[in-house]
Amino acid sequence: MTRALAPGGQLTELDLAVLQHAAHGLTIAATARAIGKSAVAVQDARHRLMGKLGATTLVHAVFLACQAGILDGRPRRHGDHAGYEAHRRRGEDPTQCEPCRLGERAHRQAMRNRNNENQEAA
Ligand SMILES: [Zn+2]
Repeated sequence: MTRALAPGGQLTELDLAVLQHAAHGLTIAATARAIGKSAVAVQDARHRLMGKLGATTLVHAVFLACQAGILDGRPRRHGDHAGYEAHRRRGEDPTQCEPCRLGERAHRQAMRNRNNENQEAA
């Protein structure tokens, strides 16, 4: 995981992990389970990253992190080959996303058809 510069100091990997989990709606307890830290450590990281980002609330921190490019709040592409590959680049399992899985299958079928046509033409 990359580190990101912020006004009040550099976010640590723990800060970033806690921020990302918060942005995805995880509670302190769920975040603690997910990253293998104590609830107190997650709570401390939340306060620390809010200070570094100059945020007054955790919601504010997530918003500022999106604006700063630390978190990607843009709508994401799904249901095609590009969406499938984007899942991979984010470290996610693209086969868990039904629209992207079907889109990738259609892409591969189109590639096979194109290859067959090229072979017949040769
Ligand atoms: Zn998807």
